[in-house]
Amino acid sequence: MDPCAEALHQLYTVLDGEHTEQEVREHFELCLPCAQALDFEAELKLLIATKCRERAPEALRARIAEIISREPLSRE
Ligand SMILES: [Zn+2]
Repeated sequence: MDPCAEALHQLYTVLDGEHTEQEVREHFELCLPCAQALDFEAELKLLIATKCRERAPEALRARIAEIISREPLSRE
C-alpha cells in the first residue's frame, strides 16, 4: 500500500493515542504532507473539543461532521 495512504488511514489512531505501528508514527515525522495532515486534524479535534457549539464555516463543519461520523464518541 502507498505509505502515505496507510499513514493517513491510521491518522486517527495516532490522534487518539491508540496503538499505532512504529512505522506509521515515523512516517508522520518524516513525511511533510502527512505531518501537516496530522497537525490539521489535531487542531480540528481541539477545536471540536473547545468550540463545538460555536458557529464554524460551512466547510469546517462538514469536516467536523465527517470526523465525528468516523470516530465513535468516547463514553466516560
Ligand atoms: Zn506521507
